[in-house]
Amino acid sequence: MRANPLDYLGSQVAEWKQAGTYNNLRILQGPSAAESRYDGHEVINLASNNYLGLTTHPKLIEAALEATRKYGAGSGAVRTICGTMDLHMQLEERIAKFKNVEACVVFQSGFTANAGTVSSVLTPEDHVISDALNHASIIDGCRLSRAKIHVFPHSDMKVAEEKLAALEGVPGRKLLITDGVFSMDGDIGNLPALVELAEKYGAIMMVDDAHSSGVLGRNGRGTIDHFDLHGRVDIQVGTLSKSIGVLGGYVCGSKDLIEYLYQRARPFLFSTSHPPSVAASCLAAFDILEEEPERIEQLWVNARYFKAGLVDAGFDTGISETPINPVIVGDTALAHRFSRELFEAGVLATGIGFPTVAKDKARVRTIVSSTHTRAQLDRALDVFRTVAKRMSIL
Ligand SMILES: *Cc1c(COP(=O)(O)O)cnc(C)c1O
Repeated sequence: MRANPLDYLGSQVAEWKQAGTYNNLRILQGPSAAESRYDGHEVINLASNNYLGLTTHPKLIEAALEATRKYGAGSGAVRTICGTMDLHMQLEERIAKFKNVEACVVFQSGFTANAGTVSSVLTPEDHVISDALNHASIIDGCRLSRAKIHVFPHSDMKVAEEKLAALEGVPGRKLLITDGVFSMDGDIGNLPALVELAEKYGAIMMVDDAHSSGVLGRNGRGTIDHFDLHGRVDIQVGTLSKSIGVLGGYVCGSKDLIEYLYQRARPFLFSTSHPPSVAASCLAAFDILEEEPERIEQLWVNARYFKAGLVDAGFDTGISETPINPVIVGDTALAHRFSRELFEAGVLATGIGFPTVAKDKARVRTIVSSTHTRAQLDRALDVFRTVAKRMSIL
């Protein structure tokens, strides 16, 4: 019998398990909500990106059911063959209007929106100037484009400018790219300064607002609205999978940009479009952003309350400015152990370690939603304090 050529994978997995850094999948046995059932335990959910509780909003559920009855379960093809439904077009128009831009294209996910866009607008002769903590999908898009990648330390405007200045007179286009809100630290990108730099050095400006849409700006319009930079960001990416509560990603910008992506973005061309239920429930979600602004207000009330509780208890929440709050403990194995013990005590918060974050900055990440009650937040804080003391983290 031949030796198993994939043996090395098993050895690697065994090594991770030994080191305590292997990530077990938690199994959700019901809806994603403020309190959910995972692996047979009822826990307060501080791990999901369901910022506004829209995953279970009756209007989204009803829209999905109605669209399924009317259009069926799937779209049948990629967008460019025959899988573009009127619902897909309505959603793109709706988002473009909401974001105050000429046009929008919806992708299957935020990941494919970033990877598909960066890889198709740049060529190997071009340059990307990218924040060190930008999302993996941006990094993959940069690699796929084979453009030259120039990384600046996280939010370091001085080095970002040096990188741009060094490229003056060098052939090729320049793309300056940042996350709007950084998903591991919860800080807001310095968009006003980056926009100035892009304008000064003639670079294309691109922002990934995955964690800012539905969170920052009027009715959750994102960082461009938050900083009042309308018309000064060339490519805006967002996701429909986080605060919108469903699935998908989108790119907003000029009509030329969107028409170009319709012709060249590979996930758009070569992967099937969303089921009608997805497009319809996303449309319903944008109605809710406009009709129920109190959800976003409550999200921020909850975020401030929970952060104050963590800081009062003595935890290090780093540089967070949003509903994402890391609780930094340092060692990767310790972060994973902390997360497991919190879970046993009734709180779900993800352990995140190297290589997702720096080796000495491993953490348990918390994200509150608008739907957490004060009692749930108090209970979660109590669990954090008790478990941390027992583990000598506090
Ligand atoms: C989650 C996330 C994405 C990916 O979005 P999906 O819709 O889940 O694929 C992209 N960028 C950032 C910054 C994210 O946090």
